[in-house]
Amino acid sequence: MKVGIVGSGYVGSATAYALVLQGIVREVVLVDIDTKLARAHAEDLLHATPFSYPAWIYAADYEALAGAAIVVIAAGVAQRPGETRLQLLSRNAQIFEQILPRLRNYAPEAILLIATNPVDIMTHITYRLSGLPPQRVIGSGTILDTARFQALLSSYLRIAPQSIDAYVIGEHGDSEVLVWSSAHVGGQPLETFAEMRGLVLTQELRRKIDEQVRYAAYRIIEGKGATYYGIGAGIARLVRAILTDEKGLFTVSIFTPSVEGVESVTLSLPRIVGGEGVETTLYPPLNEEERNALHRSATLLKEIALSIGYQ
Ligand code: ADP
Repeated sequence: MKVGIVGSGYVGSATAYALVLQGIVREVVLVDIDTKLARAHAEDLLHATPFSYPAWIYAADYEALAGAAIVVIAAGVAQRPGETRLQLLSRNAQIFEQILPRLRNYAPEAILLIATNPVDIMTHITYRLSGLPPQRVIGSGTILDTARFQALLSSYLRIAPQSIDAYVIGEHGDSEVLVWSSAHVGGQPLETFAEMRGLVLTQELRRKIDEQVRYAAYRIIEGKGATYYGIGAGIARLVRAILTDEKGLFTVSIFTPSVEGVESVTLSLPRIVGGEGVETTLYPPLNEEERNALHRSATLLKEIALSIGYQ
């Protein structure tokens, strides 16, 4: 299977690396405006294949994306000193306005996986520009936030993260919503399971976990300038779910007709991902506080999209 990656910077190349190490794909095409960078990453990644799985990795232009089952978009620019988030967003929107017509031309059948931040807005823009149905334009959304939430609960409760049903929904960013009220382990509410482990899920502990999930990216960026291994692994995981028609549950971001009274907004909810992209969306039961938080998150995303001219 061929997978294209448009934008082979930190996130794009980490995605390619995760794909190579897991033997998920046979052909990876790296496209970047910085052709020297794309070529260098392709060569370096190719040298990882004898230690992992056979794959053909090369840098090329958009024509080479023909026949790709999936195209990951991780292209973007970094914030300039003094630049506002909105100005940065407008510049990234312009980049997508250049990229999307080419993808429509060369890879009209591909499912698009968006990683560029702010990922919900970039996914919204991609949906509007691509002409594809919403289920085939998928933002990585809160997959990483959900992973962080499950990993932290796992270490406190001493149970494998895969066995915890707990999700982060809404924006991938400050307004995201950790759904505590319906989180459970093996059918038991979290509190009950914690008691079985001799623990109490105090407000203080919840606050600490919330903070660690919500602001993880800031800490990582402060320490090393960017985040890429986690998201690269997450995107590769979505590629596997699509290529194997897994029908696994992931909190990904897609255009959503209506959520908590907000219409036409792109954000994350638990969704089933398979061969055709997102197949179904699940609306987890929320308490009033979580419903209000999701409403605020959706409203914020809607306002940002409108402010740069995207309905
Ligand atoms: P991140 O940490 O999000 O991966 P990077 O700056 O490392 O950020 O990667 C973004 C990549 O997107 C860069 O390699 C950059 O050259 C690329 N890029 C920027 N504009 C375009 C474009 N119009 N088409 C393709 N790639 C682009």
